[in-house]
Parts: sequence; structure tokens; C-alpha cells
Amino acid sequence: MFSLEPPEDHRICVCVRKRPLNERETIMKDLDIITIPSHNVVMVHESKQKVDLTRYLENQTFCFDHAFDDTASNELVYQFTARPLVESIFRKGMATCFAYGQTGSGKTHTMGGAFSGKAQDCSKGMYALVAQDVFLLLRNAAYEKLELKVYGTFFEIYGGKVYDLLNWKRKLQVLEDGNQQVQVVGLQELEVSCVEDVLNLVEVGNSCRTSGQTSVNAHSSRSHAVFQLILKSGGKLHGKFSLVDLAGNERGADTAKATRKRQLEGAEINKSLLALKECIRALGKNKSHTPFRASKLTQVLRDSFIGQNSSTCMIATISPGMTSCENTLNTLRYANRVKEL
Ligand code: ADP
Ligand code: MG
Repeated sequence: MFSLEPPEDHRICVCVRKRPLNERETIMKDLDIITIPSHNVVMVHESKQKVDLTRYLENQTFCFDHAFDDTASNELVYQFTARPLVESIFRKGMATCFAYGQTGSGKTHTMGGAFSGKAQDCSKGMYALVAQDVFLLLRNAAYEKLELKVYGTFFEIYGGKVYDLLNWKRKLQVLEDGNQQVQVVGLQELEVSCVEDVLNLVEVGNSCRTSGQTSVNAHSSRSHAVFQLILKSGGKLHGKFSLVDLAGNERGADTAKATRKRQLEGAEINKSLLALKECIRALGKNKSHTPFRASKLTQVLRDSFIGQNSSTCMIATISPGMTSCENTLNTLRYANRVKEL
């Protein structure tokens, strides 16, 4: 059943997922400018104007490992992105899945935070789907003898600082020892033994994330949420799956109107997303130097970028509307660069 191992030369998988037009966009008569003509091609049909004011469409084509249209379910996206990486963590691997994109494009929906929908089977996100397969494999005869235990962590990175979502948003220090091992000191690791445990943990983390916030999306769009399932054998790290719901990549915060706080937030997010791109690229090229220290995000994910047994998938989420065109193009270009060797 689990024969989907990532091939040696395919440690980075980059996919795009388009969401449907939402109610607001439909009412505003926003146009869907994205088509997915085949399983790995995304086309953007941008409306432009000539000097004589006649309108024309400029078409741009992008290729990825997979492209999912607005009818794709989380389950389907999972099959082609995170699922092929699950087994690697039983073989001492470090697997990582990122959701990257503009705020409102479907990152949290894909990852499956509690606020993305109902806690029903049909709306399971990557957190639950990965957990489901981890517990399935745990009972596999080949891995049973390792006597593995599973732990979950859930934390947030905001403004270059780490906050534990399983411990009342306690601010945590990140330390690097002489062997370059990175440690988030005092991070809660809670043992989980079934999918329900994991969903409960995610729910606790999500409610902690937004407590004291006026709006769920306003805050979550400016922080990275990192959820991890850690396998330990005899108390020692065996493998790890990290699922990262990244901060929104839109550049709205550089406008002159933005407050100082917003500008600093924006600069920090920009810095971490650039660092992330460089770290994934270094992994793809098997470079000996990985610039993981360039941001807190890449520093805490150091394990994900180092070593022969690391693999990464990125799900770039895009909004279909013409009003999101610029952000969508930025997302597609970034995702393209991640993969480009
Ligand atoms: P983000 O986390 O990127 O800011 P969300 O995941 O919160 O965006 O999505 C914004 C809204 O769009 C939510 O109401 C979500 O349920 C909806 N949505 C996102 N992706 C999809 C999808 N593929 N199918 C249906 N609804 C979606
Ligand atoms: Mg979100």
C-alpha cells in the first residue's frame, strides 16, 4: 500500500492549488483568470489595455509538479504532496510541507486548521491526513519493532519570535549548540496516540493562536504556524514531519499608509520567505551551505533542509480572481524559483 517513496532525485515537490471564487468575489463580479489546462500547468489570463484602450488578454504559462484546480479535494492534494513523504520519517527522514500564498488563497483550508471548516472527515486537512497515515504505518510490522512514540508540537513565529501554541503562547528561545543543532527551548511536545489526539491538539493550538486577537485572519496572516509530528525511539528523535502554514506573502504592508508595526511585520515576513526559498533551493542542489540562519523560520526548520534524508513539498495556493492577479503572479513566480535548479 505504501509504495509511494519519493525518488532520490525528487526531494522537492512544488504544486499549485487554485481555490474557487468565493461569494464576495462572485457578487463583485470578479473574473476567474486562472485555468489549469493539464495536471501540471497553470495559466494566468491577465486582462490588459492597449494605448487605444482596447482590452486584450495576456496569457502566461507556468509548469509545476502538479497543479490542482478548484474542484480538487484536500484528500487529492494530499495524495500528491505530503503523502509520498510520510514513510520517510519512519526511515529517519525529515519531511516538510509548506502552504505558501496570499492571505485568503487557501493555506489554512489546505493544512486543515480548525477554522477552515467543520471537523468532519470531508474537510480533513494535511495535519489530520498525515497523522492518519503515521498511525497506520506505526502499526505496520516493519516499524512496530522500533517501538516508536509520536509527539506533536505546534508553535507560531511572529516578528522573528517563537510562541508555543500548546502553552499559552509562551515566548520561547531558540538556541544553537556547538554542533549547529537548533533547539526551541521548552517547546511542549505532547504525546499523541490517535488522529483525535492530533485534532484536539490542533484545536487547542488554534484557539491559543487567536486568543486576544480581534480577527482570526488579521493575525494569522502575519505569522507562520508550524505543526510537527515527531517520532521518537527510546526517547531519541527518529523522524519528523513539519507542516507549515506560512504568513501571507502579499506586499500590502509597504504602502505609505501602513503603520510602523505593519511595515516591520511585512519586512520580517519578506525576509523569512526569501530565506525559505534559498534554503529549499540549497536542498535541491545538494549544496553544502544552507543559509538557514537568515531567518527564525528557517533556523527552527534547519533539520528540514540539512541531510540526505530530507524532503520538502510546497503547496502554493492561489486565488482565481482578477483582483488578485498581481499576488497570484508573485506566488507563481516564487514557486517556480523554488524548483528551478
Ligand atoms: P489563507 O489561510 O490562505 O488566508 P483560508 O484557508 O483561510 O486562506 O481560505 C480563505 C477562505 O476560502 C476560507 O473561507 C476557506 O474555507 C475558503 N477556501 C480556501 N480554499 C478553498 C478550496 N480549495 N475550496 C473551497 N473553499 C476554499
Ligand atoms: Mg490562514
